[in-house]
Amino acid sequence: MKTFNSAPGFDSLVDQERPVRLIKAALCKGKMPSAFLFTGQNGTGKKTAAISIAKACNCISARQSFNRDSTPNAPCGTCRSCQKISAGTHPDIHIVRPLGTIIKVEQIRFLCSRLALKPNEASVRLALIEDAHLMNSEASNTLLKTLEEPPETTIFVLTAHQTSDLLPTIVSRCRHIHFNPISKRRLASFIIENYGLDANESNVIAAMAGGSFTKAAAMVESGWIKKRNWVIEQIEFLSNNSIQYSLAFSETLSKNKKWLTDAFYIMKIWYRDIVVAKFSPENIVNKDLLEKIQHNAFRATVDKALSNIGAIELAEQNIISNANVRTALDALAVSIFGEN
Ligand SMILES: [Zn+2]
Repeated sequence: MKTFNSAPGFDSLVDQERPVRLIKAALCKGKMPSAFLFTGQNGTGKKTAAISIAKACNCISARQSFNRDSTPNAPCGTCRSCQKISAGTHPDIHIVRPLGTIIKVEQIRFLCSRLALKPNEASVRLALIEDAHLMNSEASNTLLKTLEEPPETTIFVLTAHQTSDLLPTIVSRCRHIHFNPISKRRLASFIIENYGLDANESNVIAAMAGGSFTKAAAMVESGWIKKRNWVIEQIEFLSNNSIQYSLAFSETLSKNKKWLTDAFYIMKIWYRDIVVAKFSPENIVNKDLLEKIQHNAFRATVDKALSNIGAIELAEQNIISNANVRTALDALAVSIFGEN
């Protein structure tokens, strides 16, 4: 997956002025906490910030050249230590990731057993636990014991979407820093520069990516615009064609469960755009489809567009509550097909 830029340290973080300021201030004062908790969307730079802390604390060049004018919070990116950390081969950088949808207690036990030993070569070790909200309760409690008596020269960084996803006792042991969603403008330039999409398509993906570089990149790489165009073509037909056509659409969707969430989102934004186009067309999300949206907005009533959004939400809710997917989609298709 492409990255926004390849600067070695905190400079590579985008739209995160406050988090970077807080981390640099702690580094400068030499008052690093034993644990950080970085919250925010995926793809906003939480892991990059953690790795940059490890680099800054261990950079050989920064330490040698440290004086009044150069603080140790800017890793050089080229010394032996920085290079090993970038390559993922530094023996004192420990990263725990979920196995599937869970972080198991064995993973945390293994981490703690390694941290009980002396560091190999680092002045400060990093123990990064990604998606810490996916720790089960046994794993959380095991980690908590270590956070209560942290090993020397180790900085823990936990990442999560929000503090409420973690045990309050874990949160209270960490210095919490929230990472902002990436601005649409930055996301759009990232897509144009890295993937060569045109400005209109880039703006649509930027608006739908929820402030995340990772999500935006995944959307481009999975041909999201093509999928969106297909969904929109289908629902345009739904309003004009037979009930058989509606049911064929729900059948196709039910066979593509992996991107049902995306399909629902695309449909909701489509009907939202139809409503918005009536009052302030400059605010539609699917800007590259302006003409098509205006054409549909001319034919549809606000009530029908809003009732379609309601029907989509109902289908989503029913599927979350384990209703039969095909039945929920059939009901949705019939409802959208229904009278204006
Ligand atoms: Zn360095």
